[in-house]
Amino acid sequence: MQVNEQVITKVKQELISYLYDNGFYSLILMLVLTVIAGCLLVGQVDANGLLGWLTAMLVALVLRGWHLIWRHKTRHPSLNWLEYEYFVGVTSTSILWGMGLLMHMSQTGDTQRGILILLSCLVMAESCVSLLSSRRCVYGALMPIVLSLLLELASEPLWGLISVAVFVLTLMLAMRRLSHWQLESLYHRFNNAKLAQVLRQQSDELRLASQRDGLTGLANRSCFDLSLTAAWRRCCRTQAPISLILVDVDFFKQYNDYYGHLAGDDCLRKLAHGLARIPRRDDDLAARYGGEEFVLLLPFTAEAGALALANQLREWLAHQAIPHAGSAAAEVVTVSLGVATLYPHPGDPASSLIARADGALYRAKSAGRNRISVA
Ligand code: GH3
Ligand code: MG
Ligand code: MG
Repeated sequence: MQVNEQVITKVKQELISYLYDNGFYSLILMLVLTVIAGCLLVGQVDANGLLGWLTAMLVALVLRGWHLIWRHKTRHPSLNWLEYEYFVGVTSTSILWGMGLLMHMSQTGDTQRGILILLSCLVMAESCVSLLSSRRCVYGALMPIVLSLLLELASEPLWGLISVAVFVLTLMLAMRRLSHWQLESLYHRFNNAKLAQVLRQQSDELRLASQRDGLTGLANRSCFDLSLTAAWRRCCRTQAPISLILVDVDFFKQYNDYYGHLAGDDCLRKLAHGLARIPRRDDDLAARYGGEEFVLLLPFTAEAGALALANQLREWLAHQAIPHAGSAAAEVVTVSLGVATLYPHPGDPASSLIARADGALYRAKSAGRNRISVA
């Protein structure tokens, strides 16, 4: 529902832009037609009346031109108001044109009358094209001219009236069809763009979710595996060291047994939070390795740097002092850490780094837990 409303607003904006963007072409054509009508009528009709009409037309066109420039700089936020302003502009120009027809047609000969009718038809056709996106404006532009023509032609033979009526009717029907197509195509254009954006967003979210661990929000195992392979290759190419810290919560089974699984989950989330906030470089990655085991991947980091981070994590956890009544290592939650550093060689598997860190972790566990062991 929300999507549709956004699309409809965009379509409305586009329709109003169409009106204002085509405004100048319409004004220029109107000016040319007025000048032609003026040239045609000069010497044929009352000079004062003609001068007054031409001046009024010119002032109206200049005012509309000024309005377009002003609105180009400061668009009113309400689309309806913009359409209303345009409606006033086109309707007043049409009323002036219609008044011109009423004032002058009866004073001229047949040829001039015919040309004036032709010019009026051109004005109406042009209005339908340039005002395609606003039915209100089309009616405002057509009605004064149609009424003036009908009034003028009332005394003519019937076929003159019928021709004008058929022309206007055809114009209106064509305009309705075109405006329907325009609306439909704009709606599909913006709706498709909106759908594409939603799909892009969803696929980004899915991609991110597939790389995250649901419980802790850290990178998951598959993300870690991919990052390790990439980091391993990069360090191999640049002959740089790569370090890995495996972190395992001590006596976590007992923690679950004592405090319950929900408290166990909270504890893992806290630890993940601590891992995530340890100062790291862009290349580094903290991930959940599985169960109550976490991993810190540190490309371009030598043993001393890795050891410093391992100590930081232990200190942070000690500072948290999360009670652990079931632990034989301490009265609070503690972790054992296995640190490994390698200068990778081409051909060596990245898993050799994990194996070394795992060996170190095993030694830390065997030596009594709550400690760091370096491979
Ligand atoms: P050690 O000191 O030797 O590491 O002993 P431990 O009890 O920590 O290790 P063990 O491998 O025996 O048990 C790990 C426990 O971690 C068992 C399992 O229920 C718990 N665990 C694994 N994943 C989760 C989890 O997502 N949430 C909770 N609450 N517990 C988990
Ligand atoms: Mg374990
Ligand atoms: Mg454990």
